[in-house]
Amino acid sequence: MDGPGECVSMSRIAFIGLGNMGFPMAANLVRAGHEVHAFDLSVETVQRLAAEGAQAAESPRAAAEGADLVITMVPNGKVVADLYLGAEGLLATLQGRPLLVDCSTIAPETARTLAAAAQEAGFAMLDAPVSGGVLRAAEGTLSFMVGGTEDALARVRPVLEQMGRFIVHAGGNGAGQAAKICNNMLAAIAMAGTAEVMELGARNGLDPAVLTSIMQKSSGGNFFLERWHPWPNVLPDSPSSKGYAAGFQLALMLKDLGLALDNARAHGAAAPMGALAQNLYALRSKEEGAPALDFSCIQTLYTRNA
Ligand code: NAD
Repeated sequence: MDGPGECVSMSRIAFIGLGNMGFPMAANLVRAGHEVHAFDLSVETVQRLAAEGAQAAESPRAAAEGADLVITMVPNGKVVADLYLGAEGLLATLQGRPLLVDCSTIAPETARTLAAAAQEAGFAMLDAPVSGGVLRAAEGTLSFMVGGTEDALARVRPVLEQMGRFIVHAGGNGAGQAAKICNNMLAAIAMAGTAEVMELGARNGLDPAVLTSIMQKSSGGNFFLERWHPWPNVLPDSPSSKGYAAGFQLALMLKDLGLALDNARAHGAAAPMGALAQNLYALRSKEEGAPALDFSCIQTLYTRNA
């Protein structure tokens, strides 16, 4: 591997976790010409990426051995910790010393613990959670918020630029995750607020598409009105127009709200709007099958309960 500060060729990349986000991200790296060794618990998903030119790996270690860069994109902090730590984890078993980049959304404290363990084992590690959802993952226009050293970020930046458009150094290890949980708490609040006013508009006889076009150009304009509409059939590409197929699963949003509110409590920060949003999404998630739906399905809580 190249020395500090130099840009690593990153020709061989291990990609672990090929879900709604990981799959399109890894596919973009394949298309950019990298040798991507992919692993997911779902063999079918790995085969699907192999059909696009990736190498199928049978274990996380098989994917990561010999790699210049390891990217993980899995559901939560426990899965991330299990992958890296312990006697069977990557830190203990890898012969080489690839740069480690975790793009999952996890607690800032977990990211810091992992980075310290990685450093002790001789690895550089970054937390690099993403924002933008599946559409931006597919377009390669995600936002990356990165925690760790500037040197490690400089080495991986060219690869991140093949999956994203906005790559920002948030600070030391854990800072990327801190920025991410702030963003997602705001996203949860903004989505619920958007759903609430869409129902109010409908009750006033307004055409949802007309109301949307007005608010897009007014002070209520937001990302969800532009790209991720909770009301069905206003934006054809939004999960709401596809039966709320995720997207960003409601269960993952609830996980992120839990991370944000735990963090707020630990810092003594008031978060009443976040707590209310957490309660609304928790209520919606009680319905059969709801946790796997896109979090924009909060819309039907208003529609049904009104
Ligand atoms: P997902 O549930 O669709 O995908 C997770 C994938 O990880 C699945 O394919 C699963 O089989 C795999 N997996 C689980 N345990 C594994 C293990 N031990 N080894 C290998 N693979 C394993 O989730 P997602 O929507 O792709 O989200 C992934 C992460 O990104 C989460 O932390 C989420 O909070 C975050 N995120 C998601 C979005 C979004 O819009 N979906 C946006 C930003 C961030």
